Amino acid sequence: MLVSQGVDAALAGLLGLLIGSFLNVVIYRLPKMLERQWAADCATLQTDGGSPAAPAADAEPFNLMVPHSRCQKCGHVIRWYENIPVLSYLALRGKCSSCKTPIGMRYPVVEIVTGALFAWCVWHMPGQYAALAWCAFAAVLLALALIDWDTTLLPDDLTLPLLWAGLLASIAGFTNVSLANAVWGAVAGYLSLWAIYWLFKLTTGKEGMGYGDFKLFAAFGAWFGWQALIPIILMASVIGVVVGLALKFNNGLREGGYVPFGPFLAGAGFTAMIFGPNAILRVVGL
Ligand SMILES: [Zn+2]
Repeated sequence: MLVSQGVDAALAGLLGLLIGSFLNVVIYRLPKMLERQWAADCATLQTDGGSPAAPAADAEPFNLMVPHSRCQKCGHVIRWYENIPVLSYLALRGKCSSCKTPIGMRYPVVEIVTGALFAWCVWHMPGQYAALAWCAFAAVLLALALIDWDTTLLPDDLTLPLLWAGLLASIAGFTNVSLANAVWGAVAGYLSLWAIYWLFKLTTGKEGMGYGDFKLFAAFGAWFGWQALIPIILMASVIGVVVGLALKFNNGLREGGYVPFGPFLAGAGFTAMIFGPNAILRVVGL
């Protein structure tokens, strides 16, 4: 039993490495795809009659599949054997094979983290389908965290499916949350941050979060139930304060001092997945 469980977890880890490699593409390209779409939409509006904007429509396709990944410095097309998770990075010693520009450490790290999360899900979640559902949860959450960190966007293309998936996972019994608690979780998750956002905005004139944060929190409500929302927001705040202070002391804050909240929410989501929402309350001393 333990042996076969270990084999399953190891296979899931390998699958996770491959999915992690794909997540690197999603993290890099999805925001650019959205920006292109917005630019095209704006151009359409400006032509004032709604005729489609010619330049954007004629541009070469850019999506998760095409064009092939290239070195961002020299344009060298990454060949398949240069794209094997972790191994290629080690074989290339972290450099482009053509121009020797260093490749970010983040690529192999994302692959390894995804592999570890998949292995963890398969080891700990009861039943293959539940494990699969939680692997998907983890993959989408990791992509969201890094996209938000890079661009301060939490794309609807990821947050909304995550929310629906949480409700479906409840119906299918992949989570320990009843459908009623999942639905109320989604509602309360969205509305609570929406209310805080407007309170903050009306009293200080500043925007502390974005609508993507509300949707991500709603998704957590669906996956973990409404009871988990307070522990998750506490955890996200603790992580946010720690990371914010660390950045401040290392002069790592970006211009304007803005730090997106999504990565901390995601960190709290991972904590809730691995240790359970109640463990968070014990950690923060409640
Ligand atoms: Zn290069």
